[in-house]
Amino acid sequence: MYKIDLIYLDKFQGCLIGVAIGDTLGHPFEGMIRERIYSRFNDFKEFIRSNKKLFSTYTDDTQLTLHTAKALIQGSGFNEDYFIREYVEWLEDPPIGPGFGCLSSIQKLKYGISWKKAASNSGGNGTAMRVSPIGLFYNKDTKNLKNSALRSSIITHSHPAASAGAIVVARAIAFLINKTIETEFLVDEFFEVIISSISNSGEEIWDEFIKILNKIRNSLNISLEAGLIKFSQVGVKTPYFIEDYLGKAFVHPYTLSTVACAIFIFLKNLDSFEECIFQLATAGGDSDTVGAIGGSLAGAYFGKGNIPHDLIQLVRGYKDILKIGEELWLKFKDIDITKANQNYL
Ligand SMILES: [Mg+2]
Repeated sequence: MYKIDLIYLDKFQGCLIGVAIGDTLGHPFEGMIRERIYSRFNDFKEFIRSNKKLFSTYTDDTQLTLHTAKALIQGSGFNEDYFIREYVEWLEDPPIGPGFGCLSSIQKLKYGISWKKAASNSGGNGTAMRVSPIGLFYNKDTKNLKNSALRSSIITHSHPAASAGAIVVARAIAFLINKTIETEFLVDEFFEVIISSISNSGEEIWDEFIKILNKIRNSLNISLEAGLIKFSQVGVKTPYFIEDYLGKAFVHPYTLSTVACAIFIFLKNLDSFEECIFQLATAGGDSDTVGAIGGSLAGAYFGKGNIPHDLIQLVRGYKDILKIGEELWLKFKDIDITKANQNYL
């Protein structure tokens, strides 16, 4: 087996287990302000060790990510029918801590309502949190990556913020699995790539997202707390239930704010997976989803080999997740080889 193949395997597994670790660690803090989370411990690692029961499960973010991976494996790529079938299957898992947008639309899909009618007009982060397998699978095919991320999003969320978030996260993952911590990457290049994935759309919310991404690029020198205060509710038009949390580090479950915070925290912590995932999971607000999305970026960049074993083993059913990562990688390799042969012929 070629060395490059094994690097990809490490990255595929790292990304999926990264989602699950971030989700598992963030879950107990969902709905809390960052300040309050930090009042509970001096040393997060020690807190995890002595409170293992608190971290006994992941949530809908990981569940739906695994269903996305399975749909890609079964369909040898994006196929709407397989995606719908897998998301409906999720209802039997059963869902853990689901968001309203996901649950209501997928319940309608279950009863045979077409996705065009079933999709909720939610701009929630429910599609960006499950999209990482698309970034992995289409990492060499940016056109299909964008198309698949978009279509995987609109079958449950018709709001353009959701599809913008799904495309950006998938594109970021495709970029990161082709980098290594030894060679690092240029932050400017990272932004150019993800911004170009949603440029020239004529879609107002996509353009707004580009402005937010540029703001993050220019804010990487501010402290983590200051950045979270700045981006926690960015783009949110109607704060509804979070009025008490405005101006605090409390990430709103809107796609733009969640993806913005996940990217910001990830880029502030490029030296250590562990530090990165700890910061993600304790971001405040929708911590499990910040953990899941940021965990997908960190896992894709660091790879499984650079993730501490004790964190992998903390995840419920981690062996199954690694297995799905391997199966997705095998499918990716198959398709890649087929394409190479077609080009050769
Ligand atoms: Mg969740």
